[in-house]
Amino acid sequence: KICVLGSMNVDTSMLVSTLPEIGETVAGRSVATSAGGKGLNQAVAMKRLGSQVSFIGALGADKNGELLRDLLIEEDIDNQFVKVVDKMTGQAWITIQENGKNTIVTYAGANSAIDVADIDQAKAVIEAAAVTVAQFEVPMAAIIAAFNYAKKAGRLTVLNPAPSKEIPKELLQVTDILVPNETEIEELLGEAFDYADYEQVQKQLRPLFDMGVQYIIVTLGEEGVLVCESGKCAQVAAFPVKAVDTTAAGDSFIGALVSQIYEQPFDSLTDIVRTANYFASLVVQRPGAYSSIPNEYSLAEIKKL
Ligand code: ADP
Repeated sequence: KICVLGSMNVDTSMLVSTLPEIGETVAGRSVATSAGGKGLNQAVAMKRLGSQVSFIGALGADKNGELLRDLLIEEDIDNQFVKVVDKMTGQAWITIQENGKNTIVTYAGANSAIDVADIDQAKAVIEAAAVTVAQFEVPMAAIIAAFNYAKKAGRLTVLNPAPSKEIPKELLQVTDILVPNETEIEELLGEAFDYADYEQVQKQLRPLFDMGVQYIIVTLGEEGVLVCESGKCAQVAAFPVKAVDTTAAGDSFIGALVSQIYEQPFDSLTDIVRTANYFASLVVQRPGAYSSIPNEYSLAEIKKL
């Protein structure tokens, strides 16, 4: 199994011609609500590609919570460690410009109630999972506890440091694969990141590798990704497509990346990343977050496309 420790939200998305400036009001062209949250999106991407997924999360005792619980059941994602708490279910307010650029405001709500005791309860699931994945929409203490259990059991950990926050040293020490986007890597490094300058990139990433991170995969939007391990970097191009809505591009990329790592031991991350880029390129061509994650292909079929 794959264990996902993460957020679940109900998203409200507005389509606009141009994103509003501060103080400006713009008219929305259409509005839609859907399931979301980085944790849920990533788990759904993995499950739709055929992986078995256990979710650790929290929902409110409200309509949105019921809706998301039903969805986990419908997607056949193990929800025994999704608790109900006395907080509102998480929400996100998304504004999408016609060219696919977006802005997002999130309200953590129930997601902020996941604690170390929940991780202790889910210990057996984490230890049994081949890969444990987390993002930064749930409390740091829970992520550190989960990754420690995973590493002690000899399992693989994947961290998507999004939205960006400082990463504690004790978390980096138990992170195998770090997957930030360009903004997140710059915040993490505290300086500009020029992905084309491999020599400089290796210098910048050195402290992270020294702490025990094995691979750093920086997603670069339409430029694809930069895959680095200690001593080498390679860029893997994105697929040239017309983006209509890039929401969940990063989540789908991570979903497809982890599904492949879980399916089989890998020789080359580059091949895996190319397939993950392809999967993400399907997502950016469709409107919506959760709803834009393809359900019609197996991993094997995606690899052939
Ligand atoms: P995030 O959504 O987390 O900011 P990115 O924008 O870096 O992440 O996108 C993640 C991945 O999605 C990219 O590495 C790429 O594979 C794919 N992707 C994103 N935008 C595009 C695009 N315009 N065209 C093709 N692929 C894209």
